[in-house]
Amino acid sequence: MSSKIPSQDNTPQPVKMHHPTAASADLYEKRRKIQPRYTSGLFEIWRNIGAWSVLGFYFLTAWLTWDGRQALLFDLPNRHFYIFGWTFWPQDFILLSWLLIIAAFGLFAVTVLAGRVWCGYTCPQTVWTKIFLMIERLAEGDRNTRMRLDKAPLSLNKIIRRGIKHLSWLLISLATGIAFVGYFTPIHILMQEIVHQTLGPAESFWIGFFTVATYLNAGWLREQICMYMCPYGRFQSVMFDRDTLIVSYDHARGEPRGSRRRDADPSAQHLGDCIDCELCVQVCPTGIDIRDGLQFQCIACAACIDACDSVMDQMGYDRGLVRYSTENALEHGKPIHILRPRLLGYAAVMTVMVSLFVYTLSTRVPMGIDVIRDRNALYRESSEGMIENSYVLNIMNKSQETEHLEIDLSGMPQGAQLEGRQQLTLAPGEMRSVTETVEDDPSELKEREIPIEFHLINKDHPQQNVDSTSRFFAPSSP
Ligand code: SF4
Ligand code: SF4
Repeated sequence: MSSKIPSQDNTPQPVKMHHPTAASADLYEKRRKIQPRYTSGLFEIWRNIGAWSVLGFYFLTAWLTWDGRQALLFDLPNRHFYIFGWTFWPQDFILLSWLLIIAAFGLFAVTVLAGRVWCGYTCPQTVWTKIFLMIERLAEGDRNTRMRLDKAPLSLNKIIRRGIKHLSWLLISLATGIAFVGYFTPIHILMQEIVHQTLGPAESFWIGFFTVATYLNAGWLREQICMYMCPYGRFQSVMFDRDTLIVSYDHARGEPRGSRRRDADPSAQHLGDCIDCELCVQVCPTGIDIRDGLQFQCIACAACIDACDSVMDQMGYDRGLVRYSTENALEHGKPIHILRPRLLGYAAVMTVMVSLFVYTLSTRVPMGIDVIRDRNALYRESSEGMIENSYVLNIMNKSQETEHLEIDLSGMPQGAQLEGRQQLTLAPGEMRSVTETVEDDPSELKEREIPIEFHLINKDHPQQNVDSTSRFFAPSSP
């Protein structure tokens, strides 16, 4: 029987004495390299579906087009965010924040239901690490071979295998960096710039940054990101309740653990179903032993379930010694209780939030008008004796069509004049500043301050008309 692999322990370990009377301890445990064993099984299929869906979305979405432009593009220099058929401006930031709040809330609800399934199946750190591990397995062999290679002295075989692995990791990291920047610079232009070596400094920096970050995170740091750096991993346990689905070891069924012959009767040996093969530990990407109970390092990838099920099959025992279960089910034998008030509350709030968001988005008018008063003077008197106020109108066409617009005014006494450009044509996504002057005869102006309203009239789509209020100032009445 192989010796037990210790589970992760963050307790500082005492180290050598520097002084006869004083012992010192490292603040951090030295990292123990984890070489996870590959396992197949039902949950590996789900992990693969999750991983390839994330990778497919990440690498292919940048190439999708919508109405002749990149479907998902964050055009920071022009401050336009294109998300499929919608164009968002900085003024729409509230909608994007709302979307992020809905996503965060959805993550909370999923965590209450099934623990860290996000971490185990779809988190980019897990997905990229999984791909890097797959490459490592192809280049260097299975777990035992890799562990032997780690200990082996430098040789041509080791250099070639390591070289292939690191080169492949770097190529994937580079592709990741390029795809990331491709969401900010149109990917077709970016690719041309790469081919013609005309990349700008900002693009070069960010491609380099994300290449290095991906290579280090997925190739070297791996589980340390989940264990020490990810804030979600640290606070997710406060969202758990006793009915949250977690990957758990059935202590009552498995203990006392012990090895035995395949055909032996465990009850005769006073043994539980755990044969102490340690396969569940060897497949664990964070190197923990699920038999020690729920630990914050567990990312709920369910690799230990697949491994243990395969052992149970070989032994002819029922599957599920390690399984998705709940604290209530394991400790008190209660049935798994999914539809509970807390979760229904989350679902109700999510439904309201998503409905409101969809309604706001679908009724959003893709025109905008901001009116800024001339701050230099409250009013001016023209050579003809008229009272003038000046305004700068920022007109926005947030749609993806050319729009023919007209500016109008209301609120002033009859006879007031609107000078300046009153008809304009704006290209898709164009913003234009227009200076307008409102003038009137002082004899008509009975109030010192008159509330007025500018109207932006869309001649082709009247349902997209928008207004903005301002004030007109006149000298005090005698
Ligand atoms: S894989 Fe199953 S049988 Fe083997 S040590 Fe883990 S829990 Fe026990
Ligand atoms: S204990 Fe099991 S579910 Fe948790 S990280 Fe390890 S293998 Fe994955």
